Amino acid sequence: MSTAIQSISLSGKKKEVSKKEMTFLERLYLIAIIKGLIITIKHLFRKKITVQYPEQVRQFSPVYRGRHMLKRDEQGRENCTACGLCALSCPAEAITMKAAERKKGEEHLYREEKYAEIYEINMLRCIFCGLCEEACPKDAIYLTISKELVPANYDREDFIFGKDKLVMPLEMAIKNAQLKNAN
Ligand code: SF4
Ligand code: SF4
Repeated sequence: MSTAIQSISLSGKKKEVSKKEMTFLERLYLIAIIKGLIITIKHLFRKKITVQYPEQVRQFSPVYRGRHMLKRDEQGRENCTACGLCALSCPAEAITMKAAERKKGEEHLYREEKYAEIYEINMLRCIFCGLCEEACPKDAIYLTISKELVPANYDREDFIFGKDKLVMPLEMAIKNAQLKNAN
């Protein structure tokens, strides 16, 4: 006796599934095992598509989005004003921050009157979509084109990247300013 199960097809490729009694031979699973083995053996001689990272490194796409960087301006000041738009636009809810008010004498450190005292990205949540970069009105966060990957680690806490790992190195800001002036 067979029971036909009607399936709803969203792709337009409708398939009817029937549930019929298995024969003695089918219940032995011998044919199925042999079929499976044939498939496995066939794959042994095919070109391997697995990349043996880290010994082997894949070619990066020209539009690759790498690790985040919190940008400084030409004077080395942090651009971020802790408005929170990046966190709001993040679909993975990976960004958290704490805002602080710039004090007198800190004008050389922070470009705006408000800055991010704490800025953290949870790299375990991040999907590198780049929406934080697009949402930022201050040109403060961007996903670098450097091929640097988020390193593997054993502790979850090590994947929370704070300002120490995110803020652009001062030397890089100075170099960028020099290049801009030269052009
Ligand atoms: S790249 Fe996407 S997922 Fe990652 S922090 Fe930015 S908005 Fe969130
Ligand atoms: S990185 Fe940009 S969007 Fe995010 S808090 Fe800073 S200024 Fe706002």
